Amino acid sequence: MKICIAGGGLTGLSAALELTRAHDVDIYEKLPFSGGCLSSYTLSKGTTIERFYHHCFQGDNNLFSLLSKLDLTKDLEWLKGTTGYHKNGVTFPLTSPPEILKYPYLTFFDKLRIGLLSFRSKKVDTVRLDGISARDYIINKVGERAYNDFFLPLLTSKFGENKDSVSAAWLMSRIAIRSDRGLEGERLGYIKGGFSKLIDGMEGELRKSGCEIKLSSPVSTIKRSGSSWEVNGTLYDTILSTIPPREFTRLSGEALPDTPYQGAACMTLGLDRDIANGIYWVNMADKAPYGALIAHTNFVPFKRYGEHIVYLASYFSGQTPKDKREDMKRDLLKRFKLPSDAILWDKMAVDPWAGPVYTVRYRELIPKYEQKGYFIAGMFSPPNYPERSMEGSIVAGQEVAEKMKCFGEKFE
Ligand SMILES: Cc1cc2nc3c(=O)[nH]c(=O)nc-3n(C[C@H](O)[C@H](O)[C@H](O)COP(=O)(O)OP(=O)(O)OC[C@H]3O[C@@H](n4cnc5c(N)ncnc54)[C@H](O)[C@@H]3O)c2cc1C
Repeated sequence: MKICIAGGGLTGLSAALELTRAHDVDIYEKLPFSGGCLSSYTLSKGTTIERFYHHCFQGDNNLFSLLSKLDLTKDLEWLKGTTGYHKNGVTFPLTSPPEILKYPYLTFFDKLRIGLLSFRSKKVDTVRLDGISARDYIINKVGERAYNDFFLPLLTSKFGENKDSVSAAWLMSRIAIRSDRGLEGERLGYIKGGFSKLIDGMEGELRKSGCEIKLSSPVSTIKRSGSSWEVNGTLYDTILSTIPPREFTRLSGEALPDTPYQGAACMTLGLDRDIANGIYWVNMADKAPYGALIAHTNFVPFKRYGEHIVYLASYFSGQTPKDKREDMKRDLLKRFKLPSDAILWDKMAVDPWAGPVYTVRYRELIPKYEQKGYFIAGMFSPPNYPERSMEGSIVAGQEVAEKMKCFGEKFE
């Protein structure tokens, strides 16, 4: 069977790895590199750094199997992921129970209510919560002050202006996944040398087995041609689309549920000093042009880079925000009282399709893998609910490939 895969991110690459030995697979990737959200920059000293901050989690078993197949298990390391809040100009650590108890912007009873909510998160019925907004649910459970001072900065750092439309199912599932932190905080996974090793490894395997990865090759026309498909003028027996459903509909005219998406504008900076008080992930409770400040070198050892690497993360919907790069830089210098030469370099990554927005009743919008003569999988597929992840996209790629193998039996 001759297969076209639209999109060279983790879903497309992981599906291709399953299909390429038995089938003739072409991957079309619009950018000059593969990896999608997990692609990386190469820094001046030859080290790489992800365009968007990444770490993995203890339960990412399919990711670990893939690392093992690519002989990368030896590079997987578990590092301490500390968190904090930046409020009224101060960065407060909020990782260990004593730090949480000392945080001055929540009362003891707010903290107790939040603690109880986390404790109960694994037992809630997320199907029922899919119809309720996170805002209404949380205000009802812990009150308005705890919502504004604790949950709102978290929701803003993940969803920007879409924060009010997110479902309680998403928030409670997230709390359930992330609440096993232990007293010292969570251990998060990273690949020594960067996740670029994973993408390079997958690409290498695919090329070895004859898969063609067409970079700088956006899919721009998709037409049915009898039971086949014509993609950019070439005929295929079927297509796997890993691009957002709305984009596939625009290019092919095929009807799909309109999964709501948001964009991400993420700045990466090299700095001459630490500005995050030794903390990895700082949620901005103060208003800023970024929802979180993620200090990569407070997670991965600083000595590997010789400079402090920081991400400024923001999400948007609709048009790509103008002047974001300058706004972020200006704010950073002013807020942290830095001289301009403290910034050694900066890079900006903008992805208009950075992830779904898990709105109220989102579950009803999750499309099936198999459609009429074609397949669709990606950040919007079942393994990526309630949160898109590397693991979710690897599993989505593998699950859709199984469906495609059954479909392919008729070509044998
Ligand atoms: C800011 C950010 C932080 C993240 N942090 C983490 C984390 O810490 N841990 C974790 O597990 N996960 C994280 N993720 C999620 C993880 O990166 C994604 O779930 C995963 O990489 C998505 O892979 P994908 O292939 O499904 O989608 P994508 O990576 O979006 O791949 C889709 C590909 O399709 C291409 N494309 C689009 N249109 C076309 C077209 N017309 N023709 C051809 N190609 C096209 C795109 O360029 C892209 O390469 C993060 C994501 C973001 C955005």
